[in-house]
Amino acid sequence: MSDSPSNTSGQGCSLSESQRLAYLRAMGIQTWALKSEVNTAPEIVPQPHHAVAAPVNKLAPNATPTAAKSDLSTLDWAALQTVVSQCLQCELHATRTQTVFGVGSQSAELLIVGEAPGADEDRDGEPFLGRAGKLLDAMLHAIQLNRQQVYIANVLKCRPPQNRDPHISEIICCDGYLQRQIALLQPKLILAAGRIAAQHLLLTQKAVGSLRGQVHRYNGIPLIVTYHPAYLLRMPADKGKAWQDLLQVKQLLLQ
Ligand code: URA
Repeated sequence: MSDSPSNTSGQGCSLSESQRLAYLRAMGIQTWALKSEVNTAPEIVPQPHHAVAAPVNKLAPNATPTAAKSDLSTLDWAALQTVVSQCLQCELHATRTQTVFGVGSQSAELLIVGEAPGADEDRDGEPFLGRAGKLLDAMLHAIQLNRQQVYIANVLKCRPPQNRDPHISEIICCDGYLQRQIALLQPKLILAAGRIAAQHLLLTQKAVGSLRGQVHRYNGIPLIVTYHPAYLLRMPADKGKAWQDLLQVKQLLLQ
């Protein structure tokens, strides 16, 4: 999980060129087109971030027809989890052991969004289990919370091989699942843990260091950015800043 920019390659997702360009432009990434293409290409309307490319459900051959027809916006928790578990939207399905949907209380006030499952999570099917997970548990305990009282999900539901950064196409393929989780949960507050979650949810390329310390909004829901626990394991000097973020979380939850 490096801090280098996400690779924009990747295959297999039903992302149109105009959606890809809209997403890149919304992220502030300059895109170029040949003059000859400008008039013939379909108009690219910058889309609200979370209207981009909700997954069209492509299901495994043994998936039920009901699930195949489902529109994510109508799914309850159980149905959404089933659809996620059968997802073939991007190439990560080929290397996963299982999908990692999320864990915690479905009536939690606090949603924590991480990046993607790692090896431990891929093996056991739960987010944040390894060393970073232990640190996250400790961070939660520090503000009198535990993982049963919050909800924890990742931007990606499948493990990227060798824990590489998620590709933007994978993030887009998975976005509808996270959106639906947020719609079902309706959290009072979102804590974006790390660069990938923060940049995706806020549609920005800014660094965590410049995003933390303020209350952002995701579709109207207050959102705080903090460092990813894996980053804090590498850079313990920044734990004090993460503690400040947690105090802000606690304060907002009490309001
Ligand atoms: N890092 C994450 O962002 N999520 C996990 O589930 C595990 C490690």
